[in-house]
Amino acid sequence: MTRVAHTRDELAAALDAATGEIAVVMTMGALHEGHRQLIRVARERSPFVVVTIFVNPLQFGPNEDFEKYPRTLDEDLAACRAEGAAVVFAPGRDDVYPGGAPSITMNPGPLGAILEGASRPGHFAGMLTVVEKLLRLTRAGVAYFGEKDFQQLALIRRMVFDLELGVEIVGVPTVREGDGLALSSRNRYLSPRERTAALALSRALRAGAGHGDPEAVLAAAGDVLAQEPGVRLDYLELTGPDLGPVPAEGPARLLVAARVGATRLIDNVPIVLRKEA
Ligand code: AMP
Repeated sequence: MTRVAHTRDELAAALDAATGEIAVVMTMGALHEGHRQLIRVARERSPFVVVTIFVNPLQFGPNEDFEKYPRTLDEDLAACRAEGAAVVFAPGRDDVYPGGAPSITMNPGPLGAILEGASRPGHFAGMLTVVEKLLRLTRAGVAYFGEKDFQQLALIRRMVFDLELGVEIVGVPTVREGDGLALSSRNRYLSPRERTAALALSRALRAGAGHGDPEAVLAAAGDVLAQEPGVRLDYLELTGPDLGPVPAEGPARLLVAARVGATRLIDNVPIVLRKEA
């Protein structure tokens, strides 16, 4: 049975039923197979999985899609029930921020200033602030996040390490459509024509991943993106596996962000760099 809590008191009462470790999957709702995969992976280890559904105003910029972000609570609750979540926490804004917008927030540091942080000022401060609050409110011992939002995952790991939060963070590989498009709640904004153009992102990452030399990786991926007029590139970057400098050889990450029509999409893949003959 899945219990639904809308207030922090209801959440506390529902959590009192937990006997072992509490696992949390944090979402902004409009749940898809990517979210459901996080719940499934969490369920494999933890009988008591809490799913949070909260569109966090703090992590949206003034010109972003907070107002029109999809809200589909009834379908989301059905998905959480089907996946065997113990609790769904779907709070209102005042339950998460009872004092209004917090005056003390997280500073994401240098890792938060690059890539998404450069394009979306304030996004990571708002994200980390709500993640820290939700980790406490849900009393989580372990939390599951998707690699789809790779920089988010890296920043959360860093926050937990730097601030001794004592929570295990588990990353889950990106779930994709059959044609490669990374699942995202924002995909529903795409027209059929835009969806076709959006496939260039995953196609570019695949093309890049076919190479071992950093320059060849970026050239191959860049070529694919340049051929798709419907895609306005924000960044295409190769980094180390933790978003640091690119290593000469071994694991690395290739990340892309672009606008397709009015919709901003991100994606990334692991890459193994090797000396090419
Ligand atoms: P969101 O609702 O977009 O804030 O995402 C909630 C969680 O689901 C985050 O940890 C995301 O990284 C994760 N997630 C979103 N899309 C996917 C996907 N396609 N595959 C795996 N995880 C995902």
